Amino acid sequence: MIKTNRPLADILIIDDDNAVVIALNKALKKIGRIRFASDAKQAFAMIEERHPELILLDVELPDIVGLEVCSILKNAPETESIPILFITSHTELGFEEKVFDVGAADYIVKPLKPRVVAARVQTHLDYSLAIRLLEKQAHTDSMTGLANRRTFDERLIVELERARREQEPLTVVLIDIDEFKKYNDHFGHIEGDDCIKNIALALGSCMKRSTDLAARYGGEEFAFILPKTDVEGANTLLSEVLKSIQQLNLTHSPEAKYDVVTISIGYSTVIPGQKYVNDSDDWAVVKAADHALYESKQNGRNQVSYEQLDTGAFQAKCR
Ligand code: GH3
Ligand code: MG
Ligand code: MG
Ligand code: MG
Repeated sequence: MIKTNRPLADILIIDDDNAVVIALNKALKKIGRIRFASDAKQAFAMIEERHPELILLDVELPDIVGLEVCSILKNAPETESIPILFITSHTELGFEEKVFDVGAADYIVKPLKPRVVAARVQTHLDYSLAIRLLEKQAHTDSMTGLANRRTFDERLIVELERARREQEPLTVVLIDIDEFKKYNDHFGHIEGDDCIKNIALALGSCMKRSTDLAARYGGEEFAFILPKTDVEGANTLLSEVLKSIQQLNLTHSPEAKYDVVTISIGYSTVIPGQKYVNDSDDWAVVKAADHALYESKQNGRNQVSYEQLDTGAFQAKCR
């Protein structure tokens, strides 16, 4: 069992039998803050208001059967990870299969034994917490706490799809610390790590909207995904980002061009309604941002460059 000092878990009991509700409340009051719903309609409203950490679900409800409630919750992305435990007096052949087929975590047979109920519920709360922690770790860069490359890759596909569907612009940004080899050579690798952490923190706090993503792309490189952000909007934000890194005032190596650590930025924007040569290539916008970053480096570093995605206009004119 995972030892935690976490607050009481948020548990929802969906059952129309008062005696069961009273028994469950007694069995679980040391583990959770309990909410009750006596039918599916009320339960869905409560789940929408606040997602519980675990659901105990009666097989027979007044409005719909519990199996259907479970199926609906397991098929919705927002609720699919909530563990659902059935409460039942069914023990007939095939019942177990039905319960697990609709995605339940477990089932508890009546008459309820308080210590068994508490132990089962605690086990599933622990599993669920462990899964959430692992999920978070798998998507986070452990050194900086920013999103990792995997998250960037996954989010890029999702946001490109959303931008196309909703006809909104989408900006992708690549950032690289300037002359970082010289920093490491002068101060050492440990200080180099600290510098990367400081820059990551500053970059993360430049994100204005909850949908903006700042990720560590690799080494001393970072990337942003900025949904609903057009070329001008991105330019304004990124000029501020450039300034905020300068203002960290991190002394650079004496060998470096600038006294303080700076970054170079490249970005590209998918504009709605525009036809692109590489429309089917989800990475075209990243490649264009990478070209723009190269431009920033070539033109003296510590600056922002933009590269337009290839619309084929040049080739058309040549024909
Ligand atoms: P440029 O301005 O062209 O980007 O020059 P640069 O020296 O930064 O060139 P480059 O991007 O090729 O080198 C990046 C350096 O960053 C090399 C590598 O040792 C260092 N680096 C990458 N990841 C880490 C890290 O996690 N910690 C530390 N301390 N250094 C790292
Ligand atoms: Mg019932
Ligand atoms: Mg680099
Ligand atoms: Mg670099």
